[in-house]
Amino acid sequence: MTTITGRASIRPLAAMLLAAAIAGAPACRKTSSSLAAGIDLAGMDTSGAPGDDFNAYANGGWIKATPIPPDKGSYGIGAILADETRKRTLTLIQESAQAGSAEDEDTRRIADFYSSFMDEAAIESKGIAPLKPQFDTIAAIADRQALARVLGGQLRADVDALNATNFETENLFGVWVTQGLTDPSRSFPYLLQGGLGMPDRDYYLSKTPHMIELRKQYQAHIAATFKLAGFQEPAARAARVFALETKMAAVHATRVESEDVHGVVSWKREALAAKAPGLDWPALLDAAGLKDAPVFLIWHPKAVPGLSALAAAEPLDAWKDWLAFHAVEQAGNFLPKAFIDERFSFYGKALSGIPELRPRWQRGVDFTNAALGEAVGRMYVKRHFPPETKAKVQAMVSDLVKAFGKRIDTLTWMSPETKAKAKQKLETLKVGVGYPDRWQDYSGLEIVKGDALGNAQRADLFEYRRQLAKLGQPVDRNEWWMTPQTVNAVNLPLQNALNFPAAILQPPFFDANADAAHNYGSIGAVIGHEISHSFDDQGSQFDAAGRLANWWTKQDFDHFRAAGEALAAQYDAYRPLPDLAVNGHQTLSENIADVAGLLAAYDAYRLSLGGRPDIVKDRLSGDQRFFISFGQSWRSKIRDAALRRQIATDSHAPAQYRADAVRNLDAWYDAFSVQPPQKLYLAPRDRVRVW
Ligand SMILES: [Zn+2]
Repeated sequence: MTTITGRASIRPLAAMLLAAAIAGAPACRKTSSSLAAGIDLAGMDTSGAPGDDFNAYANGGWIKATPIPPDKGSYGIGAILADETRKRTLTLIQESAQAGSAEDEDTRRIADFYSSFMDEAAIESKGIAPLKPQFDTIAAIADRQALARVLGGQLRADVDALNATNFETENLFGVWVTQGLTDPSRSFPYLLQGGLGMPDRDYYLSKTPHMIELRKQYQAHIAATFKLAGFQEPAARAARVFALETKMAAVHATRVESEDVHGVVSWKREALAAKAPGLDWPALLDAAGLKDAPVFLIWHPKAVPGLSALAAAEPLDAWKDWLAFHAVEQAGNFLPKAFIDERFSFYGKALSGIPELRPRWQRGVDFTNAALGEAVGRMYVKRHFPPETKAKVQAMVSDLVKAFGKRIDTLTWMSPETKAKAKQKLETLKVGVGYPDRWQDYSGLEIVKGDALGNAQRADLFEYRRQLAKLGQPVDRNEWWMTPQTVNAVNLPLQNALNFPAAILQPPFFDANADAAHNYGSIGAVIGHEISHSFDDQGSQFDAAGRLANWWTKQDFDHFRAAGEALAAQYDAYRPLPDLAVNGHQTLSENIADVAGLLAAYDAYRLSLGGRPDIVKDRLSGDQRFFISFGQSWRSKIRDAALRRQIATDSHAPAQYRADAVRNLDAWYDAFSVQPPQKLYLAPRDRVRVW
């Protein structure tokens, strides 16, 4: 819940769903005009009142004129910038290939990883053979102990409960390594629920016609995958896998439950067998490289025992089928075309409504980023992120922090004690701009030319071991959780820190030559959003040291919670489709961050003018330009299937409603003369000001 958009993905690259890679467009698409900084006047639709539909006012022209490209589930400013970033990255990769081993080892790794993925002839000629050793290991499972060993050997650092808020893994559990919730002195392993091939328990259990239809298609996809991989009785195996996953879904926590940090429990290693009986825990932990960890933080204290019980109760053959199916799924991106097409027909078409698979080079760039993210990122910032940009963004960040601090000072409802704690947290916030101070070392990672799948699997394992090496060690508050070439930003509640990757600090979000109204309305609101996450319904429960601790007086917290409930109700009322509503609680952290971040950005904008009125430009006042820039930073279109998926699994509200966050600011009413009975009008007492 702490990113600016839901596009962040830290899934291991072998497991990355094709459908998750929804940002991507044909290389030839002209996007340059959309990347210019400043307001896009042609993209507006001024025929309607801003007070009735602000998103349409700011973006209606663009929405009418722009189709969603056939290889995307959604499309907008973020996707356009991600496309541009991907093209730049491809150029860097191609230059690496020319430099070859003459440059350095990382350059060679990047070139070889990418070219191995692009060598389709070699991948076709190997067929399914690269998975044969895994199939043999699974077939040889003769008892529950052997099952636990195989399950444990597959665990990876593929989830992130608080930074990227990624709760999905096809493995039985997801592992996340970071500081303890109440002990910021060292790192612990967190265990999260896993095992599902579809995105969430709802996909297995919901009674809506859409989900019932998807279940049929998923089961057909499992059978088709078994058939392609050469297994006998594919339909019977698919039925067993689907039945097992449905049982897993039944013990899974809901998405809203997953967001409750108070549900997390701490269990000693020896207690696992008693608290979550079923699995052979010593065998699983040994195979997972976790046998020496003394304490585990269990994010899902009902699901982990539930999954463990299934490991004992369900037939061994069902587990073996489940393992074989997911071995193919997780390798799928690196297998022959028939497997890729089969996966796309389910994950792309059925699950996200995307008609066409995007070009191979785009997938190649994304997988190279996932495997060697900081090695690629180092090249990216050298070429595309000048020190002047870094300095200017750092200055904006400090303006925003100041503006947020002033907001705290002037809150009438908050006691001095709580204010002092909030200020302390704000003052100790660590803000990373562009890229990390220290780059990751890939020297242990073996990348072999011509071994596409092996490279991906070794990269996943390498990352897992890097995470495990943090266990028991002091916490590095400067650790980054996004690569510099990611178009996104993130708040890290446990580190009391923010990361603003280089790729979002460029037009149209930020341009050193654009006017203040644009920059504060666009990147300023992004920065404000991430700062505000430290004070949203979740972030506010962590103190300056990143410790889960209550620093509020009861009265202050009650007031804060009531404001949050009002905002949840505001978003609950949004219905993007007749049978589909936004979940105000699932998206509450993000919505608080949007409103509070916009308020701080507006204050910082006014402060930057030094009390003078801003100039009028294009017949728009400074305040109007500020809000239109904000609205345009949420410019987006989404297919219905992708929208349903977002509402079921994402902590961010659909982009159109994020633009409408303006309705909580008094200044927006003044700027556009918004009056009742316009649809977005809220009486002053109903405008939610959490901060
Ligand atoms: Zn966020």
